[in-house]
Amino acid sequence: MPDGTVEKCGFEIFEFEEALATVNLKPQEIDVIIHTHLHNDHCENDYKCTGADVYVQKAEVEFFKKPHPIDHRYYSDVLDDVNVIEVDGDANIFDGIDVIFTPGHTVGGQSILINTSNGKAIITGFCCNEKNFPATGPAVASGVHINVMEAYDSAQKIKAMADILIPLHDLSIGRAKSIP
Ligand SMILES: [Zn+2]
Repeated sequence: MPDGTVEKCGFEIFEFEEALATVNLKPQEIDVIIHTHLHNDHCENDYKCTGADVYVQKAEVEFFKKPHPIDHRYYSDVLDDVNVIEVDGDANIFDGIDVIFTPGHTVGGQSILINTSNGKAIITGFCCNEKNFPATGPAVASGVHINVMEAYDSAQKIKAMADILIPLHDLSIGRAKSIP
């Protein structure tokens, strides 16, 4: 375990640089960042990735620049030093990687679809965990939302599309060394 690593809840918590080092990368070697949304807990390390293109939905960037006071998790300076590429709706970003517009948790959330040999893996664009996707019945809207009806619809959309669901805030994802 690297110095400074905290063990809590049965899994290791790494600083950003420590986590990248586990896959032999440094922040300045990152070429691409695809953001699900711009809440501060998702993008405060962007400035360290000086060579990266940062893909974000156009609606999310617009809200980020002029956030409503009801949502205080937008920090105005986190994208100052990176190259932002705005995406408008569903789009193919790279071969085998698409973004799916999934608003509700935020105004311009997007989920990331990766075509794998085991099917479509989707990283949800809204903060949720495995409890949002019960085995039976409809998916559950993100508990934190700016529009609950859009959040509900986005959850159903992703549940229907995904062969492999990767809920954004599920602790089991943090424990996993790889995604099947
Ligand atoms: Zn969030």
